[in-house]
Amino acid sequence: MTDLKQDFSRIPSVNRLLENLQAAFPRIKTTYLKRFVLDLLDEVRSHPQRFALQNSTKPELENRLLELLTERVRQIEAGSLKKSINATGVVLHTGLGRAPIHPDVIEDLKQVSRYANLEIELESGRRGERTDHLAPLLRVLTGAEDGLAVNNNAAAVMLMLNSVAKRKEVIISRGEMIEIGGSFRLPEVMKASGCKLKEIGATNKTHLRDYEEAISEKTGAILICNPSNYHISGFTHKPELDELVELAHRHNLPLLYDLGSGALYDTLNGGEEGEPLVEEVVAAGVDLISFSGDKLLGGPQAGLIVGRKKWVQKCAKNHLLRTLRLDKFIIKLLQSTLKQYLFADPPIQKLAAIEALAASVDSLKERCEDFIARLPESLRKQCRIVETSGKVGSGAYPVLALKTRAIRIQPSKGSAAALAKRLRLYKTPVFTYVDNDCVHIDLRTVSREEETVLQAALTICLNE
Ligand SMILES: *Cc1c(COP(=O)(O)O)cnc(C)c1O
Repeated sequence: MTDLKQDFSRIPSVNRLLENLQAAFPRIKTTYLKRFVLDLLDEVRSHPQRFALQNSTKPELENRLLELLTERVRQIEAGSLKKSINATGVVLHTGLGRAPIHPDVIEDLKQVSRYANLEIELESGRRGERTDHLAPLLRVLTGAEDGLAVNNNAAAVMLMLNSVAKRKEVIISRGEMIEIGGSFRLPEVMKASGCKLKEIGATNKTHLRDYEEAISEKTGAILICNPSNYHISGFTHKPELDELVELAHRHNLPLLYDLGSGALYDTLNGGEEGEPLVEEVVAAGVDLISFSGDKLLGGPQAGLIVGRKKWVQKCAKNHLLRTLRLDKFIIKLLQSTLKQYLFADPPIQKLAAIEALAASVDSLKERCEDFIARLPESLRKQCRIVETSGKVGSGAYPVLALKTRAIRIQPSKGSAAALAKRLRLYKTPVFTYVDNDCVHIDLRTVSREEETVLQAALTICLNE
């Protein structure tokens, strides 16, 4: 105990640290700086070992704490959310913010930086709806009667369920009871939306008659969920979409479809493994369809709902919408993203995510060769081009192995994990993946403009 007391007596006073910190940051308010100091001193007292209290002299400790404080203020000044380079090849990487957005699409954002006619109809001067900015585009691009956008797809699913089937049963196949990334569990979302889950069938097989037998006067809707991050194969069965549409409508029930990715364009010419296109699902007669804005659509985080006017309007009139609504920036970004599908042919030039997904193996190989040729001689020897397969990410195309080429780096000193960490801590964080004690760089997700930064990062981190 006495030891600890002695150690604590070396801790500098709040005022002493504060004075020094003020000298370094004369423009920051004292009350704000004081909070940095108090937080740090709390930490020192609760974890004296971490600060090596025992074997430091008073001036040493004071210097160290002051350095730490300065670094913390600087870190906040720099901002913790940083431009990062995604060299993992996973195009829709949730940890890295999913779909990348083309600079020209971002440029459109600036138009609405001050004021915008978000909820005012220009013709009448009367109050309009913010979703009116998206509905016409969604109708044209999907063939649906109406459309709506909210914060994300999880919110869209909740809004659909709450709007059409509150306090009623919603029938869903056990094979589609999904969990995505731990944060979206269909049963939980259903509970939150005020619906009762009516599970039917078995994990691998659900028949049309299972749906039919589950329908009663308590039923509010039938829900189909795209098992977007897994794939059940082998001894399986589920009814055709047409059969479910027919069944639901025969019983006057809406058929809902949580599509997940929501592709408007067959980027990978998916074929067997392809994601259903929104347009096809609309054409099949599904009443309400929801999908994400930042997956295969290639836009910002959002949840889109399209379908029959009657049901979309039920969602639009739900008071919950007020808690899920989008701001002018996201609406503008969505509008600019959707416009690319209408006016660009093919719509990949200004949709960075789609362009990355569509990149051919030959073009990637060529980029790898160019990239390596521009590295300093000593580093070139540590690089090889290897054939690998990547993932689309975010649960899109779960079984598809994207053929790709990666640059494999076997560091001449230290482990691959250590190199990957140095790259992550570079001033522009670089994300790679480690396999077989080698760092891998997949240029599919790196823009041409980012290549120079990536080369600088490699040069510095490999020489450390
Ligand atoms: C991704 C996904 C969700 C969640 O979408 P967010 O936009 O991340 O909220 C829900 N359902 C399915 C089928 C998905 O693939």
